[in-house]
Amino acid sequence: MWKHGDDDYRPTFSAARTWDQLRFKRTKVEWSRMVWFAQGVPRYFFITWLAVRNRLSTEDRMRDWGIMQGCELCGERDETRDHLFFACPYSYTIWEPLARQLVGRNINLDWHWTVNRLQQMGGKSLDYIFAKMMFQTIVYHIWRERNARRRQQNWTSIDQLRRRID
Ligand SMILES: [Zn+2]
Repeated sequence: MWKHGDDDYRPTFSAARTWDQLRFKRTKVEWSRMVWFAQGVPRYFFITWLAVRNRLSTEDRMRDWGIMQGCELCGERDETRDHLFFACPYSYTIWEPLARQLVGRNINLDWHWTVNRLQQMGGKSLDYIFAKMMFQTIVYHIWRERNARRRQQNWTSIDQLRRRID
């Protein structure tokens, strides 16, 4: 007999029910639909997921390992997730004109405001899908540019990066 639920045993096997018995369930996070959606790009999901959980290896998180380095994009002393997205002048210059069209004119450089705003948009409208795609594309490319600079690779100007994101 296979366990399908509490006190629910049946002769048939169900992979889905078995997985439900084995996995540790947590309550669904509010940002899940903003990170994972059908039209998105998997490599962008991953970086966005790390960013939303504040698990990117930004300087403030690496300090404990003795790594001291400011923002590669603007020279600010403390590099944090919230600085990169989008308090950093480099990032904000890329984010602002694109976001204004989809997210609204009152856009803000605050990370939490941005994530909340995207969550509030909700629904299945094209604007919402484009806004999420744009957000993830920008987060991905800014993080990539930050890593390229850290590895002393070629720098990309704001105009070049904007064209790539477009
Ligand atoms: Zn910066």
